Amino acid sequence: MHLVPQQDEVVDILRKTGALRDGHFEYPNGLHSNEYMQIALAMRYHRIAKTLSVGLSRLLRANPEIRAMIPELSIVCPDTGGSPVAYGICEALQAHQVYWAERNDEHEPFHFRQYLEQTPGEKVLIVDDILRSGRKLGELKALLESKGAEVVGLAVMIYQPTPRTIDFSPLPFYYLAKLDALYSQDAEHCDFCRKGLPLEKVWI
Ligand SMILES: [Zn+2]
Repeated sequence: MHLVPQQDEVVDILRKTGALRDGHFEYPNGLHSNEYMQIALAMRYHRIAKTLSVGLSRLLRANPEIRAMIPELSIVCPDTGGSPVAYGICEALQAHQVYWAERNDEHEPFHFRQYLEQTPGEKVLIVDDILRSGRKLGELKALLESKGAEVVGLAVMIYQPTPRTIDFSPLPFYYLAKLDALYSQDAEHCDFCRKGLPLEKVWI
């Protein structure tokens, strides 16, 4: 294993832990795909979580601007998938603090715990396990900025873009592996549906 795990090493870990699955899946937003990813299945093993977090932190450290901010850097994630990644990166970087945003259901806006307040100009690195549509991270970024924080970058274990993924450029963006799944916008446009392959509905 390389110090920063390479794409094929990451994919191998994901497959072996059951986090990456091949098949015919329908996402809650209606997209059909040939791949499903549930990174929590890989992150349940502490040794693997640590390898991936340390690898991602090395990519971040290689950016001189981010490296210079580490003593004052906040690592912020949406709960719950991002939490092990955020804690792993905070530990590896020895960053200032780590916290998360939460909500009771996905139709509600994100909020922070009571008394958890951003300092003006607080430097924040947003972290999550995966970036797919980017909707969640976009909401978190807007919330942080509305509270006076400055988002300085995004880091995720896996980047699995869809036709609807938000573009966060010019924000620095880091990931360990990029997976290009096949997506169809609905059943009507899906080759697997046309072939009559059994469909599995996934929750997130
Ligand atoms: Zn389909």
